[in-house]
Amino acid sequence: MEKYVYLFNEGNSDMRNILGGKGANLAEMTNIGLPVPFGFTISTQACNDYYKAGKKISDTVEQQILVALEQLEEKTGKKLGDVTNPLLVSVRSGSVFSMPGMMDTVLNLGMNDETVKAVARLTNNERFAYDSYRRFIQMFSNVVLGIDLFYFEQFLEETREKKGYKVDPELTAEDWQEVIAGYKAIVKRQKKIEFPQNPQEQLFLAIRAVFDSWNNQRAIVYRRIHKIPDSLGTAVNVQSMVFGNMGNDSGTGVAFTRNPSTGEHQLYGEYLMNAQGEDVVAGIRTPEAIHVLEKEMPDVYKKLLATCQLLEKHYQDMQDIEFTIERGELFILQTRNGKRTAQAAVQIGVDMVREGIIDKETAILRVDPEQLNQLLHRRIDQTAKRVPLTKGLPASPGAATGAVVFDADEAEQLGKEGKKVILVRPETTPDDIHGIVAAEAVVTSRGGMTSHAAVVARGMGKACICGCESLKIDLKNKLFTVGDTVVKYGDIITIDGSTGEIMLGGVAMIEPQLSEEFKLLLSWADQVREIGVRANADNPVDARKAFEFGAGGIGLCRTEHMFMDPKRIPIVQSMILAENYEDRTVFLDQLLIMQQGDFEGIFEAMEGHPVTIRLLDPPMHEFLPDKEELLVEVTKLQLTAPDSPELAEKERLLKKVNQLSEFNPMLGHRGCRLGIIYPEIYEMQVRAIINAAVKVTEKGIPVKPEIMIPLVGHVNELKRMRQLVEETAEQVMSATGVYFDYLVGTMIEVPRAALTADRIAEQADFFSFGTNDLTQTTFGFSRDDAEGKFLQTYIEQKVLPENPFAILDREGVGKLIEMGVTLGRKTKSNLKTGICGEHGGEKSSIEFCYLAGLDYVSCSPYRVPLARLAAAQATIQHRGSIVEAVR
Ligand code: ADP
Ligand code: MG
Ligand code: MG
Repeated sequence: MEKYVYLFNEGNSDMRNILGGKGANLAEMTNIGLPVPFGFTISTQACNDYYKAGKKISDTVEQQILVALEQLEEKTGKKLGDVTNPLLVSVRSGSVFSMPGMMDTVLNLGMNDETVKAVARLTNNERFAYDSYRRFIQMFSNVVLGIDLFYFEQFLEETREKKGYKVDPELTAEDWQEVIAGYKAIVKRQKKIEFPQNPQEQLFLAIRAVFDSWNNQRAIVYRRIHKIPDSLGTAVNVQSMVFGNMGNDSGTGVAFTRNPSTGEHQLYGEYLMNAQGEDVVAGIRTPEAIHVLEKEMPDVYKKLLATCQLLEKHYQDMQDIEFTIERGELFILQTRNGKRTAQAAVQIGVDMVREGIIDKETAILRVDPEQLNQLLHRRIDQTAKRVPLTKGLPASPGAATGAVVFDADEAEQLGKEGKKVILVRPETTPDDIHGIVAAEAVVTSRGGMTSHAAVVARGMGKACICGCESLKIDLKNKLFTVGDTVVKYGDIITIDGSTGEIMLGGVAMIEPQLSEEFKLLLSWADQVREIGVRANADNPVDARKAFEFGAGGIGLCRTEHMFMDPKRIPIVQSMILAENYEDRTVFLDQLLIMQQGDFEGIFEAMEGHPVTIRLLDPPMHEFLPDKEELLVEVTKLQLTAPDSPELAEKERLLKKVNQLSEFNPMLGHRGCRLGIIYPEIYEMQVRAIINAAVKVTEKGIPVKPEIMIPLVGHVNELKRMRQLVEETAEQVMSATGVYFDYLVGTMIEVPRAALTADRIAEQADFFSFGTNDLTQTTFGFSRDDAEGKFLQTYIEQKVLPENPFAILDREGVGKLIEMGVTLGRKTKSNLKTGICGEHGGEKSSIEFCYLAGLDYVSCSPYRVPLARLAAAQATIQHRGSIVEAVR
């Protein structure tokens, strides 16, 4: 018979798939002898079976739960529902991948009108017993019975007011009994039932509720954002309770073994005395910093510190730990690898290598490349004048400017409209997840650095400030005040998540820089990676940035952007409008000088690293005014100035635009088709490149130009263009007497090029896969139309697994790439191959490129660090498994 239920001493940390992360680690900690309250875990398989059976717990599972319960009772010497020594348990969710706060947990289960008396007697603490019971009713009613917490909170508040109390601890045992009666009445009113008194019934209802919480809205959203499969299911942990709310020698808290925001090596966390589990993370009371515990309870602190160190060593990674102190005794309730910012991930990785805990390759694998762009975002210029309005806890670094909103739905709405917003809340709950996703940053007035808002924001790399208590939020009137200053809905603020400061309006930002640790980690990545990283850069500024970020060359320098410069566009237009070759060369000569200057700058910036320059690619009409606009102007002029030279000029322009306009520009007169019809344009560009290379060579800086012909589909196209390049280059070199090596190659961006790559390689020194166009032409999708029209639906309805323009379609486009590489290398074994589409900066696509045996990937300068890391990860994960034929 299949095993569905495991006692904590029957599992270990390798059993995450079965026990979920929480359960597997509770088992592991039990086995290494840590003080973990005993319990058992119901497997994720039981959850999946539950759904398969139409939300029914099978008899087998039920039986196994009852057996495990008996064993738990034996171990603890307590019994569920017993009126002399009752067992109380928590029922906790826990999936394979941690989804903090997204699913449900019930504490103090087993409480009823009778057992509460026993608890009061045993603890000699009536107040505690009734407080725990009312907490249970509240939580159970919310999680299991689906009653809004609001009713309970409101009732409690009324009771407090009636009795003239300010805070909960003032309530006596009798007061809590009154509250309990009120709570039960709420249940009766809302659900027409008595609050369940049978502990076993409570248990099974709670287990079901946890299974059900796998599919609550926020969990679904969270899984979508973090790409966690819906099919995994959650495990359920049933664990005997320990109590942090037994008095002033009790408490509960959360500790990170290192700072999850900066990575600093020091215990980091928060706790609350006389409180239970949820109170810390819920952000309802702002907790005490963990180092205060050192003074308050030195022995407990020492034990906690030792446990943290032990757990970190054991898991060889930074841990996020939940603990409870019951009457001076420490219990550990959870450990997991802590979520961290990119900055912390890098710092911790490098530190752990230095400390000898992990090796370099492990450090490389630990940092998620996608997270790195956090480090490459602009930051607040520390030298600029700033006047902080107020300051909270620096919970997640980064800077953001945006309009203030007070509600998650509003944040989502405005975010969808493309507005930058900052979500300001008293505290956040897991239900706010969609608003946090949409916002640039989050600010809360309550809650600490381990509150829900902080944890979630760090996971998403969003700036966050917590516990900003001077900030008084008025949700009703949609404003907040700090002293006399009023900030209203829609007002712009800037926040600095690294310092906790909030400023009015915008603040000067600076370009990012790589930290020393980051550079070190990337240098390790460079040592292992077996695939090059280049950048796409069109001008000297980008080229320098790319070089600074570690690009080994330029994989794509587009020349059309150079033409778009406002100072140049009139010349370009005149060139296009020229009626004959002679007229055209006049303008081409002017462009030649400008282009030459561009190339000189780029060659100099790259200091002898290869620079791949693509000759003109877009169709000519892209350089001309918009047809519709032109029509309007012509019609206007015909009415107001029928004989003006201006009209004649515009009409000529319109005629040309009409002539050049195409039904399907993407498949139109562009790429090498331009070079074949107007060879003088390509010739000018080649001359500019070679002239520039001569100039730079003469300055003593080596150059490696690679001239790239776009959109080749037939070998004859490339053959002609290659001849043109070689003749022009030869002319320049022999005239100047300066010689250097250069390459001529092509982009592979239409299927025919990949299919006939063996023929095309006869004329090419290199291939660069232009995967933007190759994806368009392989799918037959026009990217501009597809992304706006149907692609989103395709992805939502899972017609396509993901957007092929973002993540390379291995099955189709990838097959063409593999074919291109294999056929090309058959003809020319030393053929250089690379990719220059946007995929070159995306980790899964980079992995594919490595597997396909490409020599390099090329991406935007800001993605170069990411690509270096992703390339190293792909190498570590797949080294040696590459097909020889492809390599
Ligand atoms: P989440 O996954 O949302 O963190 P948990 O299952 O970890 O939910 O539980 C929520 C809170 O309740 C945590 O602070 C946890 O430490 C506390 N808690 C859970 N089980 C127990 C228990 N058996 N005794 C005391 N506190 C518990
Ligand atoms: Mg937890
Ligand atoms: Mg292209």
